[in-house]
Amino acid sequence: MDKSQEILMNEGHLLPIMEHFYTIQGEGRNTGQAAYFIRIGGCDVGCHWCDVKESWDAAKHPLIAVDDLLPFLAKAPSKDIVVTGGEPSLYNLTYLCNSFKSNGHRLFIETSGSAALTGKWDWVCLSPKKTSPPLSTNYELAHELKVIIHNLNDFKWAEEHAKKVDSNCQLFLQPEWSKMDQLLEPVIQYVMENPQWKISLQTHKFMHIP
Ligand code: SF4
Repeated sequence: MDKSQEILMNEGHLLPIMEHFYTIQGEGRNTGQAAYFIRIGGCDVGCHWCDVKESWDAAKHPLIAVDDLLPFLAKAPSKDIVVTGGEPSLYNLTYLCNSFKSNGHRLFIETSGSAALTGKWDWVCLSPKKTSPPLSTNYELAHELKVIIHNLNDFKWAEEHAKKVDSNCQLFLQPEWSKMDQLLEPVIQYVMENPQWKISLQTHKFMHIP
């Protein structure tokens, strides 16, 4: 990356984009909603069960001008955009939000909250990760808390995060995909006993869509 690219990236005009595509949101509160997904490369969180490890190295993904994505967004019938990663909070997203908002889009983000979240979002899905927990300032921004359940101790961990979000924040438990056989039943039981939580499943994997 040369100096001018570095400046444009720091200003949020250029971002390493791993992929962008129109699909259906598969998980969390907005499950089933058609949306244009933008996956930003780069993540230093390091979840061992991560299903997009190819996103981790930002240098492997092309630097794309945020405004060059607008023609793709304009072709999608849905005005909803989901920004995901990688870990999108690593980047300055203020320009992206301003640009897309001024073009009439609704903006959703999926983040571990490991870095300070920038930009104005219509929906923030905070999904804490043990290797790099959310910054304290990110909890109050969450509309949705989505905790991945990888083992039975994670219910306790989920409750610790639930204490930190706003009382209006919607709470979701999501069995980790590779351990679905072992964890789905305990998650069902937990939610039946603790109905402030709802279940999130990765329905896009059942549908075989990205
Ligand atoms: Fe993968 Fe997301 Fe964890 Fe990063 S935060 S390692 S992209 S699951």
